[in-house]
Amino acid sequence: MKIVSNSSLNCFCTCARKYKIRYIDKIETEKSESLIFGDIFGKCINYILSDTERVDLKVELLIKDYDLKNEFFVAKVKQLPKIAKLWIDFFSINRYTYNFEYKIYGKIFGFDYSGYIDALEDDLSLDCISIVENKTISKFDEEDILQKLPYDKQLCLYIVDVTTKKRENDNRPIKINYRNFIKPMIKPLKNESPSIFGHRFYETIDTDILTYFNEISKPVIFFRIDEFLDEFKESCTLLEKQLELNMFPKNSSACNIYNKCEYFDICYKKG
Ligand code: SF4
Repeated sequence: MKIVSNSSLNCFCTCARKYKIRYIDKIETEKSESLIFGDIFGKCINYILSDTERVDLKVELLIKDYDLKNEFFVAKVKQLPKIAKLWIDFFSINRYTYNFEYKIYGKIFGFDYSGYIDALEDDLSLDCISIVENKTISKFDEEDILQKLPYDKQLCLYIVDVTTKKRENDNRPIKINYRNFIKPMIKPLKNESPSIFGHRFYETIDTDILTYFNEISKPVIFFRIDEFLDEFKESCTLLEKQLELNMFPKNSSACNIYNKCEYFDICYKKG
């Protein structure tokens, strides 16, 4: 079975060798703190929204899957259930009409794809189907986000999936609710304990909530779906060819694009 996702295709387009190491050899590297923060925050939101009776969310259960060594980072993460509640109240989210972690799957250009949308609001009484995407970011620049949003391949794939699976005679438009949580960038003070730091992190959000939460709602028409499908097809065709040839050349210009490639040591040991 040939499987494809946005991230695997992006990885392949950046460097075919990196694709081979990550998706064929299945060698994983440690997740960054930012990714872990976003993962746990998403889990907190879904946990609270999926069952209002479950007020006893134990963050220890959510962090046990990660090997967290930085006490100050753990202190911040421990505030996430409270922050998730603030988030939910801020957006006045209706807890009963969402399909959380909505699974998408299907075939595209000869490959199988699958993934999860953060939430899909698909209540027949609504005048639209709403795709919800939550993002944790450290800097909010609305103009920049709006410029990049139409090219967000992840969202484009969600739209393609949801559009093709709409029920017959269902003419409701699809809307995107793109929500940003802006993480305060504070650092521990001299002699500050992790727990005091954790509280300060939470207080920073509490006092400036309007600064830190934002929501951008955009209709699907705003997205470059045709362009996305053309690019996706082109990348799938190229990937198929490389898979047949079993050739995954290095792209040394990608080794240091933003940071050093996480597979650098493995890659160069292999020669
Ligand atoms: S180190 Fe460079 S060539 Fe090797 S996998 Fe990473 S990006 Fe590709």
